Amino acid sequence: MSCGKPHDKDCSEVLERMFEFIDNEIHTADKSEIEQHLDECWPCLEKYDLERTVKSLVARSCAEHAPESLRDKVLLRIRQVQVEITETRIVTETD
Ligand SMILES: [Zn+2]
Repeated sequence: MSCGKPHDKDCSEVLERMFEFIDNEIHTADKSEIEQHLDECWPCLEKYDLERTVKSLVARSCAEHAPESLRDKVLLRIRQVQVEITETRIVTETD
């Protein structure tokens, strides 16, 4: 998925490092590159917002540890949201 514009950093590379970025486990240089990319590329920003939201929800609802069932539910919910985003985009584009 890409916004179609050229970026210094490839979208796949940004998405690959998304979790490190959210967890703040990333080098400062890489971090500013990703921040810049998110500024320019809305599909990646959308994905970043989604990951961050899910992460904070999980952190809040189970501070101890995530049971498998909850993890599955969260993963399912992520897929549903992604489908909703895709469908919304198709409707907008054909408008
Ligand atoms: Zn991107």
